[in-house]
Amino acid sequence: MNDLTLGFPTPSTLLKKFLDQHPGLETQEFYEKTVAAVEDTFCVCCGVGIRKGEPGHECFVPDSFVDSAFLHACGGDQKRGLFCPDCKMAIGLRQASMQFSYAQIGVDPESGRYKAFTVIGMEDLLAAVYKPLSPPMVMTRKTRKRQHTIWKGKVNLHDVKAEDFLFFNSGDSTVVMHPARVLGLVEKEQELIQAVQEHVAGLKNAKGLKEILPVRLLKVNLDCPSFVPANYRSPYVGITCEKLLARLDRFVQVVNESTSGDKILYAYLRTLGVFKKTTNYRLLVDSLVPREIDMDSVINGKSDSEENE
Ligand SMILES: [Zn+2]
Repeated sequence: MNDLTLGFPTPSTLLKKFLDQHPGLETQEFYEKTVAAVEDTFCVCCGVGIRKGEPGHECFVPDSFVDSAFLHACGGDQKRGLFCPDCKMAIGLRQASMQFSYAQIGVDPESGRYKAFTVIGMEDLLAAVYKPLSPPMVMTRKTRKRQHTIWKGKVNLHDVKAEDFLFFNSGDSTVVMHPARVLGLVEKEQELIQAVQEHVAGLKNAKGLKEILPVRLLKVNLDCPSFVPANYRSPYVGITCEKLLARLDRFVQVVNESTSGDKILYAYLRTLGVFKKTTNYRLLVDSLVPREIDMDSVINGKSDSEENE
């Protein structure tokens, strides 16, 4: 049961709760150098209520801030409204804006403490998707440089694994993923390839299929993969069975009608399979281990972030 008096957990409050477990980052200024709200208002970022007299930060955003469209237009006497301290911290704290632009933050079911996984690489991302933290959980990943994402993320309040449903922020877009369903589709591709190989085995000059959805095409842009199937009707492939062709058509149609998030996941799973030289995707998923963000490095400035911003 959710405690409604606590309000909706925002990504900024999750980040704050996580960072409170790792003292050493200088977050105090965001909680001390504040102004008092001159009237009851809402945070321009997360929408939490800020009562008259409570602390906030005036919403001055420079022209270089390209994410203004993600803020609420609360107006009010204090120029364009106030940020709550947590959101100001999530946007303004350098380490947060760097490291937590590729992150999953949620609750570790064993310890009940907040934990953060990195989702920088393909393996990290898949590990976090298939072995997610418990709710409340937020997962975001930036898709271009100088993009800060954690405060824009959608919080998952449900059990992602049990419900096979995940909100994930890929760059500026929120996408929906169904991890188990996608794993099933990737396995279906292997099953169909196997059926094709068995079908063409006795046929002369028939080459069969290695891939229905070629990875080189999926890889063109992993954030928005294009799903162009191999030409399985070509005489070169050698399929003469209409029923089998109809199964292939149906498969391609189902994958193409997947959500954008599922397409991203599909492309990542297939690409990792090629890297790892395996087509046993269930085993591949079982072997994934989420990687925790190394907070010692973040606190001591030896961050392994791919860029310094
Ligand atoms: Zn806020």
